[in-house]
Amino acid sequence: MAFDLDTFVRPNIKKLIPYSSARDEFSGEAKIFLDANENSLGSPLLKWYNRYPDPHQLAIKKKLAVIKSIGAEHIFLGNGSDECIDLLFRSFCEPGKDNVIICPPTYGMYEVSANINDVAIRKAPLLDDFQLNLAHIETLADANTKLIWLCSPNNPTGNALNRSDIEMVLNNFEGIVVIDEAYINFSKQKSFIQELADYPNLVVLQTLSKAWGLAGLRLGMAFASEAIIGILDKVKPPYNINQATQELVLKALDEVGQVNDMIRLLVDMRDALADVFRSMPTVEKVYPSDANFFLVKIREARKIYEFLLGKGIVVRDRSHVKLIEDCLRITVGTEQENTQLVEAMQQWYEQ
Ligand SMILES: *Cc1c(COP(=O)(O)O)cnc(C)c1O
Repeated sequence: MAFDLDTFVRPNIKKLIPYSSARDEFSGEAKIFLDANENSLGSPLLKWYNRYPDPHQLAIKKKLAVIKSIGAEHIFLGNGSDECIDLLFRSFCEPGKDNVIICPPTYGMYEVSANINDVAIRKAPLLDDFQLNLAHIETLADANTKLIWLCSPNNPTGNALNRSDIEMVLNNFEGIVVIDEAYINFSKQKSFIQELADYPNLVVLQTLSKAWGLAGLRLGMAFASEAIIGILDKVKPPYNINQATQELVLKALDEVGQVNDMIRLLVDMRDALADVFRSMPTVEKVYPSDANFFLVKIREARKIYEFLLGKGIVVRDRSHVKLIEDCLRITVGTEQENTQLVEAMQQWYEQ
């Protein structure tokens, strides 16, 4: 299928002349910077925080390119994936005219971001096994459908979507397919990053907020064709990744081994904790998980949520969400936190 990106970019974005930052307007070596109205004397903190950060985050992209085995020109960095999500709406969806497809129950930001941008949402709910309803997706897509949002492994259900279903969407939908892989490091499924060469309409989102343990630094990643990355670069605020984040992320990216150890441990603890929940008398189902959390269907879910809160333990109450009624979403904690959760559940049954 021929994919013509030009027909998917909003006309105002296509003709947009992006902001040219002070640091972009010179080339060559310089040691005296009097071009950006910074405070030349310094700052109350470390000396270099008086300077604007690299708007292109080249050092980080170089390291990520090695880790992800993809060219740096295929990487966009956002202030969290949430910024990438918003930029995709702003780049490709005409407010009041275009629409996108989401597959609930799924990550809430797709719908919020659509609403902020006045873009219509069309819903193709997941099937009973939390897989894609391909026939429904097909009936929803029309000429104004610019994006389809897929989340795999999916939040809040925890499962990975079938690879062949995702490929079916990629091969048949004429717009952009976004695969949010926030939890991919915990999954047995392979990332779609390596398929970018085959699919010019593919955007893969990942984040340092989950497996990398850096939710506080706010760094999200989009992987896509050079053409799509170019559009996002044009639309983003020039200095969207701050200096402190860039420095700390650069250090963290040297610790792939440590992160892989944490992933293994979290997955083991998830499976153990899920087994404990499976054995509880009022649990109807613990859904299989490819993430660092799991979804549990349990009688009196809302009451248990409140009971746990009374013990200082907060889980995610999803008991009123369609298709996952009576469900709680539980993030894997530390060994000690998991033990305390199990003890609190024993108290629930004994009261
Ligand atoms: C947690 C999460 C994110 C992460 O967003 P950040 O802005 O990068 O912290 C993205 N997508 C999904 C589905 C998530 O659950």
